[in-house]
Amino acid sequence: MRLVNCLDIRFLGGVREIGRSGVLLESDETKILVDCGLKLGERTEYPRLDQIDSVDAVILTHAHIDHTGALPLLFSLKKLSPNFKGVFCTPPTLALSHIMLRDSFKLQQIEWEKLGVTPLYGYQDLVECLSNCKTVNYHSSFDIGDFTISFFESGHVLGSCFLKIESDYGTLIYAGDIGGFYRSNHLNPAETGVRCDWLILESTYGATLQHLSIKQVHNSLTEIVRNYFEEHPHGKILIPAFAFARSQEIMRLFSLRNIPYPLYYDGMIKETQKVYDAHVAYMNEEVKNQFYQTRQNPFLGNFTPLDTMEQRWEVIRSKKPAIILAPSGMLNGGWSPFYLSKLNSLENLLLFVSYEAEETPGRRILDGEKKIKITLLNDEYEWSEEELEVKIRVAKIEGLSAHAAADDLRTFARSCKPEKIFLVHGEPPDVESLNGIFQKDRILKDAEIIIPQGEKRYALKTETAGKEVLKRIMERLDSLEERMSRMENKLDH
Ligand SMILES: [Zn+2]
Ligand SMILES: [Zn+2]
Repeated sequence: MRLVNCLDIRFLGGVREIGRSGVLLESDETKILVDCGLKLGERTEYPRLDQIDSVDAVILTHAHIDHTGALPLLFSLKKLSPNFKGVFCTPPTLALSHIMLRDSFKLQQIEWEKLGVTPLYGYQDLVECLSNCKTVNYHSSFDIGDFTISFFESGHVLGSCFLKIESDYGTLIYAGDIGGFYRSNHLNPAETGVRCDWLILESTYGATLQHLSIKQVHNSLTEIVRNYFEEHPHGKILIPAFAFARSQEIMRLFSLRNIPYPLYYDGMIKETQKVYDAHVAYMNEEVKNQFYQTRQNPFLGNFTPLDTMEQRWEVIRSKKPAIILAPSGMLNGGWSPFYLSKLNSLENLLLFVSYEAEETPGRRILDGEKKIKITLLNDEYEWSEEELEVKIRVAKIEGLSAHAAADDLRTFARSCKPEKIFLVHGEPPDVESLNGIFQKDRILKDAEIIIPQGEKRYALKTETAGKEVLKRIMERLDSLEERMSRMENKLDH
């Protein structure tokens, strides 16, 4: 039994960076890992799993790879305690994780082969981690050792949740990724008013006080499309988008606004869309009503899937305008690099709608690099590398993020009334800026705000935690005393 740090946390990644999120929460008796993600870039980075002996359970906040991608690695390293309880997440997160982790495994295999390194995990580990998943709905609680855990809606992507983790020592909220309030056209906003002692909060847009109004963002997106086709009636617009969330957000927007041009989607969106169709019950009232009452698909509208090479080439060669939505959002996998390589001319438009991480082809293009390397599928469905001289027109729509800007993060944090706030999941300027905003806030000013370091262990202690530990020590001493006197009695006889 550890006498001093009765409850502590360690950040295995995701500090002063976006990617490889993972927090180890440890009490005397129980260890749980919250999220276990990858950091994608030129070379994938992994959470510091070497700092873990074994865990009793894993909790996933949502299906994005920066929160789930290293899960098979945890299984391959056999970091599971003998009484391992499983991987817990919401039903949509599990359904999306099947698709996302399978895809991530493929991309990892390509990378390992390219680098000539021994694979870090195999097919069996992937299957094992997914078969150990257990689903829990929003607002239901479950116990793992010392902890009682509940899921709340976080408004970030389908199935995303923030966690309330209660114990005798106090209450921790791990926010995961939080969506801006009332910005999604299909999700409920993040829930507020869940109280805690300690809060672990994301900072992706910590340096942006407010996103543009969502109506304005939607208007400029549809305006760009209409204006572009007026000037380039034979042009194509390629929208690289994440395999889920942003894609559905755009599909729903274009469907609601009856965009009068041929609309196509390709790649993993075809699979994630099936998950969306099967989990409408986890969306907002308007979407539920449209699906269950009027029996219309809330997303597909006039969108057509592209399934074969013939269909793809037909759209590429066609003289008609077309909008093609394809993952990945950062042009580092999926079908978007294929379309970019074929549509790379001044007549067409590459329209970014997503966050572009450093070192990805998407970020390089946005930064104005004229020659970039992309990895793409060829006509034989094999991956190949291509050097591309960027000729296509480029535009970016700001403000469509699935992450809350600083103002909404502050509202969320205020409503939790925490004593300590750990700021994670952000590039350094964003984390520092959010720290500055919170330090000056009249409501949060009494909270201790911490920008954690990766190697450090943070003890979470409150007054009651101190008393609780003392109580436990006294109980242990009492039982030791009892055992000693029993032994003495035995010896006497
Ligand atoms: Zn996310
Ligand atoms: Zn994230």
